[in-house]
Amino acid sequence: MRMFNKSNLTVITKNKSRIQRLDNRLINQIAAGEVVDRPASIVKELLENSLDAGAQSISIEAERAGVKRIRVSDNGSGIERNDLELALARHATSKVSEFDDLFRVSTLGFRGEALPSIAAVSRLSLRSRTAESENGWQVTCEGGGEVTAPAPVAYGVGTTVEVQDLFYNTPARRKFLRTESTELKYLDAVIRQLALARFSVELRFQHNERSPWHCRPGVDDASELQRVASVCGSAFAENALRIEHSASDLRLSGWLGLPTFSRSQRDIQHFFVNGRAVKDKTIAHAVRRAYDDVLYHGRHPAFVLFLELDPFAVDVNVHPAKHEVRFRDNRAVHDFLYRSLHRVIADSTKTRLAAPASEDQPTSAPFSAPIQTSAPMKVREQMSVYQQLHGSPQHNAALESISPHAEPVIAKEEGDIPPLGYALAQLKGIYILAENRDGLILVDMHAAHERVTYEQMKKQMDEHALASQPLLVPVTFSVTQGEADLAGENCQQFTEIGYELTRMSDETLAIRKVPELLKDADHAQLIRDMLADMAEYQTSERAQDRINELLSTAACHGSVRAHRILTVAEMNHLLREMEQTDRADQCNHGRPTWKQVSMNELDKWFLRGR
Ligand code: ADP
Ligand code: MG
Repeated sequence: MRMFNKSNLTVITKNKSRIQRLDNRLINQIAAGEVVDRPASIVKELLENSLDAGAQSISIEAERAGVKRIRVSDNGSGIERNDLELALARHATSKVSEFDDLFRVSTLGFRGEALPSIAAVSRLSLRSRTAESENGWQVTCEGGGEVTAPAPVAYGVGTTVEVQDLFYNTPARRKFLRTESTELKYLDAVIRQLALARFSVELRFQHNERSPWHCRPGVDDASELQRVASVCGSAFAENALRIEHSASDLRLSGWLGLPTFSRSQRDIQHFFVNGRAVKDKTIAHAVRRAYDDVLYHGRHPAFVLFLELDPFAVDVNVHPAKHEVRFRDNRAVHDFLYRSLHRVIADSTKTRLAAPASEDQPTSAPFSAPIQTSAPMKVREQMSVYQQLHGSPQHNAALESISPHAEPVIAKEEGDIPPLGYALAQLKGIYILAENRDGLILVDMHAAHERVTYEQMKKQMDEHALASQPLLVPVTFSVTQGEADLAGENCQQFTEIGYELTRMSDETLAIRKVPELLKDADHAQLIRDMLADMAEYQTSERAQDRINELLSTAACHGSVRAHRILTVAEMNHLLREMEQTDRADQCNHGRPTWKQVSMNELDKWFLRGR
């Protein structure tokens, strides 16, 4: 063992000694470091145990952010008298019994490590009663010492674990604890996360005698949304889209923040795989990509998402704290997530347009209608009626797509009004004012046109494959053998965007054709980066990103500038194009392109009617 003495920088080295077995207490204390690093991780483990025991109601009490005392009580199945001591023994669990069980784990715990680890660094008491038992039983354990013999206690069915004086016997670890308010934040985050993991479970959390936070069960759409609001804030709930999507054996559900509700932090990002909160690179990457093009650089999306898949298709036994997983088919999961989320975001304009403005949520209230089912239909129906009456809006890909000849159309009946309504006027050369069914629509003319142009260019590109340009002298560059293999396996991905690569030797690649749009790029570097992405995520959109960036710049330059005077017909044409365009809700930088001011709101401003 080496110790550095700061004051005089002398080094004290303990004499090298013989190998010896660590005693059990020390083993437990070392192991505890993996799962128990702060009060929050204890609460996480205890809550997971309560959920595994089928509890429907759990109450958590903490003093001094849990450092002084944590108590978790549940109404779950309880532990039998004779199992109490085992529950506190290392590697003792009721949840798996053979190796294969590890590949179909449906409980949150399975390592049999939490209780003994917690007991090793605190004073723990465990009190429990099963339905079959006439009374409860209690055992205690201090600092990982002997477990006391079960003593009878009066107690209802369920389990209470009380943990006091955390790290009292491991002062070195205690020093790593942060201030009470910081630890409380961690604690709070863990509890909120668990609240999302199981909507049906009632939770109460009380800290230092303060009035408790009560989280009611979510049993239907409305109460689920209320729970989301109570965990993630009501602003998120009001600005989130409900998603529900499945394909073969993957199912994705939850709430997705509108791109206009972006965050400066990753503070509202909850992802659950089979009910377990996880942090996973593949997932993070897929989600980030789904929001590409619609978020400002440096902004983060908000979401609460649940992925369900066959337990066999995911390995949860990767990390002691169990917040990492490994998918058997990373690529399939990545693509499924990316596609599902991307679609919902692309459709969000239509969704927003479909939601009727209500009294309490006057603007863009995605939840005022069951979004994924009936509401978008309504818009499509409206659109088809509109198209039958007036013909399809033109898709003019030219940059000057605003046609001066389109005739203004006058609504004949209420039902004919297209979602974004009809242009009334232009304000200060910047905004279009339009009237629709619910009231007034304001459109940022430049931002909206930029989006429309950009999406049209991308679509054209998708339809006509990307043009390549042969290089007179092929560029050769060296890579690792693994990278060269990857290039071979992903040959299709390169061809799709206009690259042609050949392998010259084990560790040399040659570029023969490059995408026309990227002809000035540093190809060797770009391809190396793409290979790195492919190694990590099995896919890379790096070149596509660069192409999109170029398109986006082109779209920006090609779009109507502010202060250009538009005719009513031109304005209507732009409105119709927005309705037909994916992701028309935001410009390429994530700013909103339009806003609804409802009659209700207007009436309120003028104190009219009510
Ligand atoms: P694991 O959860 O990985 O099995 P733990 O150390 O967390 O390991 O718990 C050990 C065992 O104690 C569990 O397998 C379970 O049988 C029992 N147990 C712990 N907490 C509870 C509880 N709240 N209700 C019922 N049984 C519990
Ligand atoms: Mg456990």
